[in-house]
Amino acid sequence: MLQKSSPFMKQANLINGEWVQADSGATLDVINPANGQKIGTVPKSGAAETRRAIEAADAAFKLWRKTSVLERHKLLRKLHDAIMDNQQSLAELLTMEQGKSLFEAKGEVGASAAYVLWFAEEGRRTYGDVVPSPWADRRIMVTKEPVGVIAAITPWNFPSSMLARKIAPALAAGCTAVVKPAAQTPYSGLAWGALCEEVGFPKGAVNIVTGAASEIGDEICSNPLVRKITFTGSTEVGKILIQKSAATVKKVSMELGGNAPFIVFDDADIDRAVQGAMLAKYRNSGQTCVCTNRFFVQAKVYDSFVEKLAAATLKLKIGSGMDEGTEQGPLIDEKAVEKVEELIEDARAKGGKIITGGKRHALGGSFYEPTVISEATPDMRFMKEEIFGPVAPVFRFETEEEVVQLANDTEFGLACYFYTGNLGRAYRVMEGLKYGMVGINEGLITTPEAPFGGVKESGLGKEGGHQGIEDYLDTKYVCIGGLGL
Ligand code: ADP
Repeated sequence: MLQKSSPFMKQANLINGEWVQADSGATLDVINPANGQKIGTVPKSGAAETRRAIEAADAAFKLWRKTSVLERHKLLRKLHDAIMDNQQSLAELLTMEQGKSLFEAKGEVGASAAYVLWFAEEGRRTYGDVVPSPWADRRIMVTKEPVGVIAAITPWNFPSSMLARKIAPALAAGCTAVVKPAAQTPYSGLAWGALCEEVGFPKGAVNIVTGAASEIGDEICSNPLVRKITFTGSTEVGKILIQKSAATVKKVSMELGGNAPFIVFDDADIDRAVQGAMLAKYRNSGQTCVCTNRFFVQAKVYDSFVEKLAAATLKLKIGSGMDEGTEQGPLIDEKAVEKVEELIEDARAKGGKIITGGKRHALGGSFYEPTVISEATPDMRFMKEEIFGPVAPVFRFETEEEVVQLANDTEFGLACYFYTGNLGRAYRVMEGLKYGMVGINEGLITTPEAPFGGVKESGLGKEGGHQGIEDYLDTKYVCIGGLGL
């Protein structure tokens, strides 16, 4: 049934350095969203396999934490090189299971390598403090230590790079990991195991378990050996994980949903705004948590922005991610298409005008036409709900105060974008927007050097930047007394 064999395509769990099946022998099928065909299977594991993975990670931690930062740095650099040496093959695997274009998949794999390199470097800079002591005969020291075993749960939209931001800082800090990739895209997750093995990370440092999400999740949350959970996914599941891990008081990092506004003021460079809008909207067919959910355009430039955005949208080349020149692949599955259809129907019923798209693509399956809707209004569902598809609703606004209020009228606070040529306005609006990340005159802002993360119900903690390793470290205060000074 394999359409393409990749040296990194593992169809087994990685536990304590062994590639193994689920105890029951049960498997889950993995489907290529571009053609609906089965790519292969992965184990359908549950609590028992997860427990063994956690115990293996705990045993490995006892040795891994004693390695020097330089040793860890060198291994992570090797991991970076191995990813880049195999960029094409890892990208093909990613496209096959996820659907995004090979161009984007290569970009994602490159980003994974960049995160690994960044954290290889940051690991060497996890400084502590020596604090001036209030006591003459005591000294105060503050050190940083790895938290221990961490568990990472990741989504299907960036199955490689979401793990890079978790595995790399964990290993750099001296932690070991248990990973659960999404059921739709497990192979890019399992590939991390193959890569870590290839470059010589010790057995048990990275363990990967696929299967029943809630059974695996429950074991992760309740097992006291897991000291931190790092999750990227929906706000709904994030809340469950926070609640369940309260019983064992774990550290949590949560990268949850978004509802990104993209604001265009009438003093903006409209062509630049359209360029940014295309990236902020249609990357990965609109299936990213930082994708624009709501365009707000000031009245004077509204018509021209809609016209230019629709013209650029119409030019997007839709197809299988594997085909040369494809810019937009299929949505992940039928459910995703149905959600998009529902939201468009709701907008149509409330007076939205479909400027381009608005229906399934002639290619069939889960392909959907990139869509621009004008005359969007706040009573439409996409004012509050994440679209996660290639749909651009454009709202009209009059004043700066009004649009900041509209943009903030959501429980989410991940990324936001705005375009203006006015410096004072840039600062006012930036300070007024309650979001974790702001792009000013830029529509694509993610990079390993900067702290990625949200506020409000978009999450807790940061990934990337020098902040991205902090969550994998405990701070220890040491008081040295009786010095007789
Ligand atoms: P999405 O809507 O993007 O699929 P989810 O939050 O449902 O987002 O999924 C993100 C990750 O969380 C996936 O790996 C999924 O399998 C996992 N997941 C879903 N439900 C649970 C749960 N109850 N416990 C642990 N992990 C879960």
